Amino acid sequence: AAKAAGRGKHCFYEASMHSEAADRQLLENDLRQALDRGEMWVAFQPIVRVASEEISGFEALVRWNHPTRGAVSPDKFISVAEECGMIGKIGEYVLRTAVAEAARWPDNVRIAVNLSPIQFNDPNIVDTVAAVLAEYDLIPSRLELEITEGVFLADSDMTDSTFARLKSLGVRLALDDFGTGYSSLGYLKKAPFDKIKIDQSFVRGAASTTRRNGAIIRAIVTLAESLGMDTTAEGVETHDDLYLIRELGVSQVQGYIFGKPLPAAETKELANSTRVEADGFQCIREPRH
Ligand code: C2E
Ligand code: MG
Ligand code: MG
Ligand code: MG
Repeated sequence: AAKAAGRGKHCFYEASMHSEAADRQLLENDLRQALDRGEMWVAFQPIVRVASEEISGFEALVRWNHPTRGAVSPDKFISVAEECGMIGKIGEYVLRTAVAEAARWPDNVRIAVNLSPIQFNDPNIVDTVAAVLAEYDLIPSRLELEITEGVFLADSDMTDSTFARLKSLGVRLALDDFGTGYSSLGYLKKAPFDKIKIDQSFVRGAASTTRRNGAIIRAIVTLAESLGMDTTAEGVETHDDLYLIRELGVSQVQGYIFGKPLPAAETKELANSTRVEADGFQCIREPRH
């Protein structure tokens, strides 16, 4: 009877922790079956060259339609997949699906695929990438692998040799979510990136908020250019931000203003209309499903 209130509170806290862990366990169990049950699919988001308004390529983004939860965000389930050992299978499914789709597009349209640090550090990754490219007869330079700073945490000799082997395979490498991690500049020196993807947190609302985001974007562009790397601004949603991004010299744009991630069936027309009309922002904005 003593400390009843405190005990009650304690129990409540425990119960909620328990249900959170239980929920995570349920999600993990479902995730293990998701691929085999056909609940996963790949969406493609256009990436557009700022200067010419041409389609540069698409980023493949995995989607999970859970039978009862509905769409579960990759921000939620990728980390679960990494922890429970499923990311290799899921990642390979995304890679294969994305490369198969890209093989149906014109030769100048690239496909970008995210690689989890766990995939990157798998000793078989280079062979897997090479095999998938060969299977669909895709020119390696049409594949861009998006990597985050997380790959450098392992920082082994193998990390260096994986970069070198991927490079000699001929695929392109992009540093994703740039600016959100720790010592990004050191990492730029370590690996042969072809592109820096400027994180949405600097891009979204850059035109309307402080000038600091613009200054940071400009600095990243200068750095990238002097290292011979492309830049893509992620998360451009408004014309004002697009205008600023163009002024700042960013080479490519990815964001809802040009299109949300689309099902494969809806990419082909876009992929073939490589030249977007002068007023083309309207053409590929908010595509109808
Ligand atoms: P990311 O690689 O940085 O991908 C860009 C994310 O920004 C995507 O979210 C995309 O839908 C979203 N985005 C693009 N433009 C806009 C915009 O204008 N406004 C807003 N609000 N969002 C925009 P998504 O698809 O939810 O993916 C989230 C993250 O999950 C990805 O970030 C990536 O880190 C991870 N992810 C997605 N698919 C895969 C995959 O196949 N493998 C791995 N390892 N990770 C993946
Ligand atoms: Mg990405
Ligand atoms: Mg990103
Ligand atoms: Mg991200």
